[in-house]
Amino acid sequence: MVSGFATCPGLFYATPAEDGILSRMRIPGGMINSEQCRAIAEIAELHGGGYVDVTNRANLQIREIRTLIDSKVLNRLQNIGLGCCNTDVDQIRNIMTSPTAGIDSQELIDTRPFVQAWDNYLATHPALSALSAKFSVCFDGGGIVQVCDRLNDILFAAVLVDGDVYFRLHLSVGAKGQPPSDTKILLLPNDCLPILAALADVYLNHSDINNQRRLRLRDLLNTLGCENYLQQVQQRLTFPLNRSETCPTAQRIDTKYQHIGIHPQRQKGLFYIGVVLPLGRIESRQMQGLADLAAKYGSEIRLTPWQNLLLTDIPQQKLIDVQNEITILGLNTSATNIKSGLVACSGNKGCAASATDTKSHALALAKYLESLTLEHPINIHFTGCQKSCAQHSQSDITLLGVNFEVDNQTVEAYHVYLSDSNSSYKFGRQLYQYVTFPELPALIEKIIKMYKI
Ligand code: SF4
Repeated sequence: MVSGFATCPGLFYATPAEDGILSRMRIPGGMINSEQCRAIAEIAELHGGGYVDVTNRANLQIREIRTLIDSKVLNRLQNIGLGCCNTDVDQIRNIMTSPTAGIDSQELIDTRPFVQAWDNYLATHPALSALSAKFSVCFDGGGIVQVCDRLNDILFAAVLVDGDVYFRLHLSVGAKGQPPSDTKILLLPNDCLPILAALADVYLNHSDINNQRRLRLRDLLNTLGCENYLQQVQQRLTFPLNRSETCPTAQRIDTKYQHIGIHPQRQKGLFYIGVVLPLGRIESRQMQGLADLAAKYGSEIRLTPWQNLLLTDIPQQKLIDVQNEITILGLNTSATNIKSGLVACSGNKGCAASATDTKSHALALAKYLESLTLEHPINIHFTGCQKSCAQHSQSDITLLGVNFEVDNQTVEAYHVYLSDSNSSYKFGRQLYQYVTFPELPALIEKIIKMYKI
């Protein structure tokens, strides 16, 4: 099925894009096994552009699809656990959790069962297909690699209170582009699913299911008022919603690079390796190679919301072998590799709103800077317009695509911003305007050296 414009892309809602059909696979929690990984690589090779993109919700996208993915292939994907068994809810936003759930040495609770439970609930309640496709849910287990600061409609953030684990409920209210706000409601872990069901039911009660453009949950919360909305949620529950002003809040720490490289798991003797995917892209042959590595040495592959991936459950004595094989595949595991902090939105190859070819420019910049030795990761973000879909927080360096005309020709250029917490502007402090791409690499090198970012 090829979707119209009102639906977000999904495995069953392939969407036309400038470079062909785009198919997005929802991967709840971003976790796939080697069989699933091989199957996706095969489809990208046979039907798409020979590569797969990891999105900032840890979905997978196959682009440039020019030959039909028929129902036989879709059924095979469903049979191996990819693609929702209820196609009606396939387009609803992926469920996010920390990519280190269940292996993080400091997490308070393993959030994988909560992801699974909400995914099952969606699949078995067809009425939920009327939810906004952007109805987004996140579970944070309070470990080292946190996802609290990601943009989601609903966040359950684990906290420890007198030795017991609870979740604090956060909801997306107020201005667009802000992480969800703490409602101060403290929930027992078993209460997460009933409250999600109630939040969804209140949403459906107020939404016009005949209108293809569904309201965002944030808009509804802003219209009804958060308190009013929560009162209606309470009416659907068999337990009271308790607020606590004094209990610990979930900490929001920027952990976007802490998963790259080799890290011990909570399981003694086992490690995970965070692999850098330049701009979230992986070739199908690399994906096949990683599937083989996961099958031979580890167990699974986990996609991250920072558009990289982890290979998990690697025994200590196999770490060097696995790292060597990752290098042979042409991939990297260093957080100070310039590609590890590079982010770009779709750019003008995939989005009509983009002033520039952000992805090609970002890769060309990475090539120019590859010999530069970084002391710590640097986050460089290319965005094709002000909307900044690929990254909502400030980057160390933001490059905003703009156009200007010379002799009736459109020139692609960038405004350059440096992170500045004192700046009220969302990208930070503007350093330069209208820098053309040929001028950009040398300028960025100068900025990195001058500002010792
Ligand atoms: S940031 Fe703008 S240009 Fe880039 S993908 Fe989003 S809407 Fe398109």
